[in-house]
Amino acid sequence: MQFFPVFLRLNQQKCLIVGAGEIAARKIEILSKSGALITVLAPSFSTTVKSLEKKLALTLIQKEFDGLSDAQGFRLIVSATNNPTINALVADTANSLNILVNVVDNPKLCQFIFPAIIDRSPIIAAISSGGTAPVLARLLKTRIETLIPYGYGRLSELAGNYRDKVKAHIQNPQQRRFFWEQAFQGGVAELIFAGQDKKAEDTLNEEILAYATDAKTRGEVYLVGAGPGDPDLLTLRALRLIQQADIVVYDRLVSEDILNLIRRDAEKIYVGKQRDQHTLPQESINQLLTRLALEGHRVVRLKGGDPFIFGRGGEEIETLMENNINFQVVPGITAASGCASYAGIPLTHRQYAQSCTFVTGHYQDNQINLNWEGLVNPNQTLVIYMGLLGLKHICESLIEHGCSKDLPAALIQQGTTKHQKVITGTLESLPQRILTHPVKAPTLIIVGNVVRLHDKLTWFKPSI
Ligand code: SAH
Repeated sequence: MQFFPVFLRLNQQKCLIVGAGEIAARKIEILSKSGALITVLAPSFSTTVKSLEKKLALTLIQKEFDGLSDAQGFRLIVSATNNPTINALVADTANSLNILVNVVDNPKLCQFIFPAIIDRSPIIAAISSGGTAPVLARLLKTRIETLIPYGYGRLSELAGNYRDKVKAHIQNPQQRRFFWEQAFQGGVAELIFAGQDKKAEDTLNEEILAYATDAKTRGEVYLVGAGPGDPDLLTLRALRLIQQADIVVYDRLVSEDILNLIRRDAEKIYVGKQRDQHTLPQESINQLLTRLALEGHRVVRLKGGDPFIFGRGGEEIETLMENNINFQVVPGITAASGCASYAGIPLTHRQYAQSCTFVTGHYQDNQINLNWEGLVNPNQTLVIYMGLLGLKHICESLIEHGCSKDLPAALIQQGTTKHQKVITGTLESLPQRILTHPVKAPTLIIVGNVVRLHDKLTWFKPSI
């Protein structure tokens, strides 16, 4: 270990930056986060440093660094000049005074180095390559950033405030560790990440009591949007919850690749929902979620796309609410966004469409109940979910109500996945074309002049 990692308290400590260019400015900004009192010494100051002067209460000293008298009294010095002689002089001077020194881009002259920092104060993670490859350290930092939710700081503050109470209620250290592990990976943490701090605190209190008296706590339900298929399109929160859940209740639209991300020992319950052969009726799904949560499980209800867009998510949470069960809704990328992006068809476009409407083409009692007049608008994009079966009927109705029969239309099969297929035509020709190109569900239909852009903007070309 070439450099030993420590965390310095710099609040109200005098720190000196020698040099006042862009690199110096970055060091000033990062140091100022610790509350350091910063002096900048340089013969001239860049506009960036000047612009920070007031905001960060900097002391600017306009002169060339020339030894002991400039360095005395500081706790830490950073030399960020492009003059090697000055940099060496700063390092020597600091060493002779036993002041910690960093010379930017010159690890040999450094008594300390700046790590790549992940800041979830009071939780801080620092990554260093010992000065050998700062870019690599930064890349690693970016990867770790995605694993640490933004609410971690607040979670750790809450834990800090409750340390004594937990100690008093749960005396056995091993049990206490187990308790905290559960709190940090369960409902309390998720409530904090969702910005519901007060509720998180109430839940923590309940859990402390329940743990100490051996009572059973309630589970919770996360209604999670799984997006249109490509697992890379999951949100960070969706991924985290999928990997933590005890039970995942999913339906037909959730792709195999996404199901593979579920924790191995979690229970998976398929509740189907194929057209006309609902494996479990909606009411039973609502009841199932409630029952599982009451049994104390952490349940993820995983749905294709976004739970609140043709997903009946509203009905599921209504039942949860009636039963006083904690839940959260995690939005997902809806099929319209996913398919449009991956098919190179922008849903709006300055020239072609100023609005976009999502409708369902689902037959109900042998009818498709849509306000056809309202859908006839050449400057609008129309996205039709569940429209394959009724495609002919939909196209004919649109033409009947005033749409041009030459209005472009596209059908996207299994959008965003390696099986994606895009078939384009017009309102008149698309139903015919579908007959000669066998298609597989799920499919989405986009109608409007934006479909013209598909040929030009196609970028996603799955190789299967
Ligand atoms: N909640 C979902 C929609 C559920 S309705 C969402 O927000 O996307 C089911 C319909 O969504 C399907 O019939 C189909 O029209 C559409 N759909 C979902 N995923 C799709 C995909 N990968 N490709 C094409 N259409 C899709």
